[in-house]
Amino acid sequence: MSKVNLLDFDLDGLAAYCESLGEKRFRAVQLFRWIHQRGAADFSAMTDLAKSLRSKLEGVAEVRDLPVVSEHVSADGTVKWLFDVGAGNAVETVFIPEDDRGTLCVSSQAGCAVGCRFCSTGHQGFSRNLSTGEILAQLWHAERSLRVRLGLGTGERAITNVVMMGMGEPLQNYAALVPALRVMLDDHGYGLSRRRVTVSTSGVVPMIDRLREDCPVALAVSLHAPWDALRDELVPLNRKYPLAELMAACQRYLSAAPRDFITFEYCMLDGVNDSDEHAEALLALVNGRGTQRVPCKFNLIPFNPFPASGLTRSPRERVTAFAKHLQDAGVVTTIRKTRGDDIDAACGQLAGEVQDRTRAHERMKRQPVTWISAANPSPSFPSAAPGGPEPH
Ligand code: SF4
Repeated sequence: MSKVNLLDFDLDGLAAYCESLGEKRFRAVQLFRWIHQRGAADFSAMTDLAKSLRSKLEGVAEVRDLPVVSEHVSADGTVKWLFDVGAGNAVETVFIPEDDRGTLCVSSQAGCAVGCRFCSTGHQGFSRNLSTGEILAQLWHAERSLRVRLGLGTGERAITNVVMMGMGEPLQNYAALVPALRVMLDDHGYGLSRRRVTVSTSGVVPMIDRLREDCPVALAVSLHAPWDALRDELVPLNRKYPLAELMAACQRYLSAAPRDFITFEYCMLDGVNDSDEHAEALLALVNGRGTQRVPCKFNLIPFNPFPASGLTRSPRERVTAFAKHLQDAGVVTTIRKTRGDDIDAACGQLAGEVQDRTRAHERMKRQPVTWISAANPSPSFPSAAPGGPEPH
């Protein structure tokens, strides 16, 4: 019989599980702190738990880490893990260090069913939802490994922010996502504030409303087009939840959000969505076409081309001009740095490369790895907002 994975539980879930073993809630709190605050997996090391509980747990439970397929470190300290989630599937997780924060970009699904045209994950199709334990294992593993790498002491944290922007559409894996978010926010867990945890969605309107009710964290929305005809092509989910409905959901979300703005992600595609006319239409959209304004900021993402997309990256000057157009209208706009073009590791690329383990292992043979990094940034681009490997 397989053991119960304790990473599958938020604190209430762990308390219920402990109760089923005849233990009181305070024991669950102790256990929870050992796992998430101290990164412990070995029950015998959890010295303030009763010996009887420790030996009971050893027989029936475990803290299940994800097997690492590869781990790459860039010159600027960015770390990218590729985790094996079984049956030939792998997901990626990226740590992005900055002066004042450390952001972890986490995956929620193996593959993705949304099928955005500019995203290689979308092109590979959907394999399966990750469990709560698999979502949290990315954070648990990364924090534990970074603490050793960075030589951090007890009580110090490497990861200060989490963005659900890796592989997958998190709001299409809602049941597993919400307990994972609760562990991130829990003071006995990772203790992150709601402003420091971001869910990025391509626009699953009903689930945006549920997230507002259940666990309102910061919200990012993959926009990529200012009108429906174009967005229908780039983000097929738009055919189900068109822009008017999406903007209305964003307005509703802000009534409970921990931030007073929505972050709109916008992938810059040459000759497709990057003209002054598109910028003007975006401003009209967020300023409310006959409805209310949506307080927001924009994060422009230079597209990382891959052959099946048939799309190319907007020239740097066009991205800069587009950003200026929005900024001149008073909208805060950042441009994300590109990284890892040479190892297909930039936005929307790595995930699409690892659908089967054979190819993952081929990737592992490609050594040495060189990254485009802070040591070699695009010189004329403004400082980028933190973000993950995917355009959404
Ligand atoms: S951009 Fe996000 S929602 Fe769209 S296909 Fe890629 S992973 Fe899925």
